[in-house]
Amino acid sequence: MNKEPVSRELFDEVMVPNYAPGSIIPVRGEGSRIWDQEGREFIDLQGGIAVTCLGHCHPGLVGALHDQAEKIWHLSNVMTNEPALRLAKTLCDLTFAERVFFANSGAEANEAAFKLARRYAWEHYGPEKNEIISFRNSFHGRTLFTVSVGGQSKYLEGFEPAPGGIHHADFNDLESVKKLISKGKTCAVVVEPIQGEGGVMPGDQAFLEGLRQLCDDNDALLVFDEVQSGVGRTGHLYAYQMYNVVPDILSSAKGLGGGFPIAAMLTTAKVAASLVVGTHGSTYGGNALACAVGQKVVDTVSQPEILKGVKSRSDKLRKGMMDIGERYGVFSEVRGAGLLLGCVLTEQWQGKAKDFLNAGLDEGVMVLIAGANVIRLAPSLIIPEPDIDEALERFEAAVKKLTA
Ligand SMILES: *Cc1c(COP(=O)(O)O)cnc(C)c1O
Repeated sequence: MNKEPVSRELFDEVMVPNYAPGSIIPVRGEGSRIWDQEGREFIDLQGGIAVTCLGHCHPGLVGALHDQAEKIWHLSNVMTNEPALRLAKTLCDLTFAERVFFANSGAEANEAAFKLARRYAWEHYGPEKNEIISFRNSFHGRTLFTVSVGGQSKYLEGFEPAPGGIHHADFNDLESVKKLISKGKTCAVVVEPIQGEGGVMPGDQAFLEGLRQLCDDNDALLVFDEVQSGVGRTGHLYAYQMYNVVPDILSSAKGLGGGFPIAAMLTTAKVAASLVVGTHGSTYGGNALACAVGQKVVDTVSQPEILKGVKSRSDKLRKGMMDIGERYGVFSEVRGAGLLLGCVLTEQWQGKAKDFLNAGLDEGVMVLIAGANVIRLAPSLIIPEPDIDEALERFEAAVKKLTA
């Protein structure tokens, strides 16, 4: 086995250059703390981009993974397995869903959602009803279909021709959707209730309610991409429950495995019926190890005291960031919901989000960015309150140095 010491330089020698990772290589994590190769310690407000929702090496998740690892790992979908059936049942019990399809990533859950929306319309209304409406600045994944539905054309550059029949409206602008939607052609409207990558931009209540109505009026399916906003992130198991706007299809991933790859597409029995045998599939989808871990995540996160804890932690973090923003004149607004927060840089600091991220690392706190103008925070949903206080102190020290 190759046990040579490795460094960040090796990345440039052996990896495809599509990422630009920082210089630190973390080697160990516990709760909301991470240690790098040199033993330097960091407080993690990144959460693996809204993935490690119960922190690092949560004993319950480690236990679930170990237990299942000693039973059975993988069967493929020629047979079903107990963890997959149990997790699907749990997700149906806790949400609007009546049927579940498992995948391995957000993009794949969305791919399934978009294919299902087309197939459902094809079956019930005919092949002309195939258009998908989504939103500028949205993010739905990196497969060719999902990146085309996504609303950031830079991610499509050089990969065309893209799949057709996709139109983009403006987020939080119902009128722009009305101009594009039609009973004859639209099969689905796809939206993130809170845009994540696009800058942590929450949907307005009236906007999401309006989309539901427009979809009903035009026999179109409403698809919520909750890959980032789901699994307790907002203080509700899914954000649709916060808005009280129920989609026809919902995609879930990121937090669902707490760091183990798993995704799910949730839908109703009526809509699910269009994915008949042979129409779609995934070798790893519903993998027993992934579902055993996902079960522990959902069982834990759906507990009322955990969801309530998200709200109190959110208040503390939001207030702390707003105070820093005021003291140093760096943030014009802190937006988002629960533990998905976006601190919007003031005019003077626009374009400099990465500098804040790097300054944070120097002081031992890991934050995310969303574009060049927003500092994004997506920590563990159970981050200890003293860790929040200390993270704020470290971040303030970073901002103080940066603005000096
Ligand atoms: C991260 C993300 C995706 C893509 O998920 P992957 O697991 O990277 O494929 C899709 N939609 C949203 C809203 C996301 O935040």
